[in-house]
Amino acid sequence: MKTVTSPTIVRTGEDIRQVVHDAQRVGRRVGVVPTMGALHQGHLSLVDAAREHCDLVVVTVFVNPTQFAPHEDYQRYPRELDSDAAKLAQHGCDYVFAPSVEEMYPDGFETSIDVGSVALPYEGERRPTHFAGVATVVLKLLSLVPADAAFFGQKDYQQTLVVGQMIRDLNVPTDLVVCPTVRESDGLAMSSRNAYLDEDQRQRATALSASMQLAGRMVDRGERDVATLRRAMESHLAEVGGVDVDYIAFVRAGTVEAVETIAGETMVLIAARVGQTRLIDNMQIG
Ligand code: AMP
Repeated sequence: MKTVTSPTIVRTGEDIRQVVHDAQRVGRRVGVVPTMGALHQGHLSLVDAAREHCDLVVVTVFVNPTQFAPHEDYQRYPRELDSDAAKLAQHGCDYVFAPSVEEMYPDGFETSIDVGSVALPYEGERRPTHFAGVATVVLKLLSLVPADAAFFGQKDYQQTLVVGQMIRDLNVPTDLVVCPTVRESDGLAMSSRNAYLDEDQRQRATALSASMQLAGRMVDRGERDVATLRRAMESHLAEVGGVDVDYIAFVRAGTVEAVETIAGETMVLIAARVGQTRLIDNMQIG
């Protein structure tokens, strides 16, 4: 039987920084996986990747208030540190850094990181303060956990671009590793917010990935016109019903530049509301 050791839970920046420095001083490579907790297999795949590439794995669990707008689900967001720690124990996580809001944002905190154009469209347009909140908290987490590599999920495509831009522009000495999206067997991208869905909504939510797969198959058969692909996705989503599309976008892979014709690696991005729950997903096509 495999022995599992619970990760050590660390609450202060000073303590986790010491852990990382001590490990690096003896030549150990440190990996960090930033999360907001309520961990699922998608998060755990990042932990597995970190475990594979690094000698010491730190998972941060922090529901970051500054990336939520006042009307969003900050209060309601699931918080389950005990069960998260139990899951992490099964995946070889060494430390959980779970700071309080006061530890991260003491009185007098004012700085905000604006990464520029990559944060403006799509999620940035619908959630105008979101990416400043993300970039700022990620920079803070990478200062407190100065890891050699940080692992993020492709599920949040635009977020990976925002973090990459911030790391490059601010010379953060951490490698960004982007890992594939983990899906349920029916294609729904795993997300902590899926827990908000009732059974009927959960069924309808599969239309997001199904519509992107449909576009992918059309591209495989030679379709190149984005307007045609978008119409096909929209009619699939309308047929399923109960899915209120926020945007469907086709962008050049690795960017947020919209394309009108598929010529090379393209990402299709989708955001939609199912009931009150806002879901995002993306896939590479072409
Ligand atoms: P969150 O807790 O939602 O902030 O997510 C923490 C990290 O897990 C982010 O880098 C996400 O992109 C990643 N992540 C969330 N869901 C998935 C998924 N289904 N597959 C892979 N990574 C994911």
